Amino acid sequence: MTDIIRAGTPGTPGTPGTESLVCRLVDAELLVPTGVLGLYGRSGTYQDVADGIGAMVRRWGASLGARRLHLPPVLGRATFAHTNYLESFPDLMGSVHVFSGGNPEHKELLRRVESGGDWPALLEPADVVLASAACHGVYPLCTGVLPIEGRTFDVQSYCFRHEPSPQAARMQSFVMHEIAHVGTADGAWNHREEGLAHGLRMLSGLGLDMSAVPASDPFFGRVGAVLAAGQLDEELKMEGVTAIPGTQGMTAIMSANSHRDHFGVPFGIETAGGAVAHSACVAFGVDRIVVALLAVHGLDPASWPSGVRDQLGLAGSLA
Ligand code: 5GP
Ligand code: ZN
Repeated sequence: MTDIIRAGTPGTPGTPGTESLVCRLVDAELLVPTGVLGLYGRSGTYQDVADGIGAMVRRWGASLGARRLHLPPVLGRATFAHTNYLESFPDLMGSVHVFSGGNPEHKELLRRVESGGDWPALLEPADVVLASAACHGVYPLCTGVLPIEGRTFDVQSYCFRHEPSPQAARMQSFVMHEIAHVGTADGAWNHREEGLAHGLRMLSGLGLDMSAVPASDPFFGRVGAVLAAGQLDEELKMEGVTAIPGTQGMTAIMSANSHRDHFGVPFGIETAGGAVAHSACVAFGVDRIVVALLAVHGLDPASWPSGVRDQLGLAGSLA
C-alpha cells in the first residue's frame, strides 16, 4: 500500500521528494493508507493527538461562549448552493450520488460493474454534497435576526476537497475545527483579528514556529484570479503558516477569514440593529497540525517535550 503512495495512483506519477513524509507516517502506522492519494485512516496515537488539539480549540471556544456543534461530513445541497462554493471552487467540491432505479436498472448496474462499464452514470445526485468547510453548516442556523451579541460557534467536521496529492499536508478528506462568529461588521472583524492572534499563540505554544501571512483562496479560473487579488489586497484571509520538515515551503495549518456579508446576504441573516450580518471564521486544520507536530517533535508522541504533551492532554493516554 505504501508503494501506491510512493508511486502515486495508477496513471498519476508521484512527485519525487514530496512523498517522503507521508511514507514515513504510513511506515510508522500513524496514517493508514487506502490506495487513494490524500485519503487516510488515523491510528489511535494520531487520533489522541488530534483529540488534544480539538480540546485546546474547544477551550478557546468555551471562553467565547461558543455553541458546540459536531456536523456531518455532508451538507444539504440547498445550503451548499447558498455558499456560492460552486462559483469559486468547482474543481474542489465533491457530490454524493445514489442509486434510485428499479430492478431493470439494478440489473444494468451490475452488468456494468462486471464489465468495467460506466456504472456511475446510472446514479443520480443525492440531496447532499460533501462538506468543503466546517463553518458552512452554521449559517443556515442563523437565518433571521441575531441577538445583540451575535452568535459564536465551535464547529467541526470532516471536509472534502478534491486535491489528490502525495504530500502529507494535502489530504482530500481532513478534519477542520473552526470557531465562527456571525454578528456586526466590527464584531466579525474583531473575531478574525483576535482569533488569528489566539491561534498563533496556541500553535506556537505547541513548539511550532508560526508566522501570519495574508493569503488568498484558490479561486477557479480567470474571474477567480481577480477575486484572489482582491482578497489579498484587503487582507480578508490570513493564514498561520509553519515549515513542516519533510515538505516543501510553508504550510497553512490555520486560517482566519473575514467573509464580510458573503454568507449574511444569501442566508438572510440580520444584526439586531437591522444591518446585513457579517461573519468570520478561524479554522484549524487538525490533520495538518498533527502532521506538523509529528514532523517537528518526532513520530512517537510519547517522547515529545512534556510541556507539549501536557497541553495536548497526552500525559496519561500515551504513557
Ligand atoms: P481554508 O478554508 O483556509 O482553505 O482551510 C482551513 C484550514 O484547513 C487550512 O488552514 C488547513 O489547515 C486545512 N486544510 C485546507 N486544505 C487542506 C488539505 O488539503 N489537507 C489538510 N490536511 N488540511 C487542509
Ligand atoms: Zn470557515
